[in-house]
Amino acid sequence: MSASLESAPLPAAEVGADAGLGELCVLMKLGEIVLKGSNRKLFERRLHNNIRNSVRDLGDIRLSQRGAGVIIVRKPGASDLEVAEIADRMSDVMGVVWVHLVRRVRKDLDAITDIGVRSMADREGTFAVRARRRDKRFEMTSSELAGYLGARIIEEHGYAVDLKNPDNTLHVEVDKDEAFVFTEGIPGQGGLPAGMSGRGLVLMSGGIDSPVAAHRMIRRGLKVDFLHFSGMPFTGPESIYKAYSLVRQLDRFQVGSRLFVVPFGKAQQQLKSSGNERLQIVAQRRLMLKTAEALADDLKAECLITGDALGQVSSQTMTNITALDDAVDLPILRPLIGMDKAEIMGEARKIRTLGISELPDEDCCTMLTPRQVETAAKIPDLRQIERRLDAEELAEHLVANAQRHKPSFLGDEAPSRVEQSPAAAAVRA
Ligand code: ATP
Ligand code: MG
Repeated sequence: MSASLESAPLPAAEVGADAGLGELCVLMKLGEIVLKGSNRKLFERRLHNNIRNSVRDLGDIRLSQRGAGVIIVRKPGASDLEVAEIADRMSDVMGVVWVHLVRRVRKDLDAITDIGVRSMADREGTFAVRARRRDKRFEMTSSELAGYLGARIIEEHGYAVDLKNPDNTLHVEVDKDEAFVFTEGIPGQGGLPAGMSGRGLVLMSGGIDSPVAAHRMIRRGLKVDFLHFSGMPFTGPESIYKAYSLVRQLDRFQVGSRLFVVPFGKAQQQLKSSGNERLQIVAQRRLMLKTAEALADDLKAECLITGDALGQVSSQTMTNITALDDAVDLPILRPLIGMDKAEIMGEARKIRTLGISELPDEDCCTMLTPRQVETAAKIPDLRQIERRLDAEELAEHLVANAQRHKPSFLGDEAPSRVEQSPAAAAVRA
């Protein structure tokens, strides 16, 4: 991604050495937050915190809000590569719509023109200049400035103008104390700042769907924790390493993720011996949900999130989904419910979880899987199994035995046992 962020090398000394002007920094455009009216300040504060958290290992980061929809992040004295790293991280912060690498220049026409003309060197095709003033006292109006810069670029480089559909765009934003000059940007995540909409708990398998479901809800402003059921002691720990790696990748989008791992094998065996074989999968999923609900209570999470998609597998028929909802009081959010597998995989690729999800593991759900799965599970039958088992107490017991991890994408948390293992290293490789 960083490759697309390169901009023409412009030594700071040549473009106005005073007060660090000429430096490369990151300019972000915000989306929905701008529409938030009287709540906007709250959203901005949350976003600023999230931004700071996502670069907290990078030293002296300066952040400033410019008007309603623009944030500038800079690090005095940083190399271009370091600034590109900051931009890369900003493209994963929820609430940011565009990320641009920009040159911060003196607010004077010659300095702006110098950088603007040089930024457009070695291009192909047509171009346009877009100018904006946040300081209306600047000597030219936006359209005069755009016209002036356009004429200078034609003079210097000879490109044709296309205002509607240009191949290259030069942006100039004139601010109160300085101006910003930049060309292309990279798209951000959009959505709302993580944490703005409350807390949720994601039921996280090692599969393709649940990470995508998590990303979608983080993007709508939830801060989420993760709960994974492993088939231990009857399966190997591979699914835990996968869940761990997946959460660490998703941590880029919210920072501060927690993963809870429940060894589920023995409970699965108990379920099997107290119920009808065809009901095993739905009964297991209900026990997972009850366990999640008990944990959500401790974590103050207000909803559960799963990667269910209607009809994708036999446990996801409408009747079975209704039977799952019956297991808990908390709302279950299913952001993938109407999506095709191919669409989900496309999204998984985009959020960089697909490669991890496709690693081999032994899912706890495939263990003890019956030959036939009930597609129309009856709620009274499921409740009866749970009474025999005392499912609520079992759920509490499972939560009490959960292991807790903090898979940070910054890698600065104390490494857990899972993190240090050779197999985890293999997953990372
Ligand atoms: P995924 O790709 O997310 O594993 P799936 O298509 O394999 O989903 P199921 O195995 O039926 O579908 O699971 C549906 C949902 O149930 C998952 O998206 C997840 O939210 C939850 N789930 C399934 N297995 C586990 C597990 N081992 N630990 C935690 N949650 C699970
Ligand atoms: Mg699965």
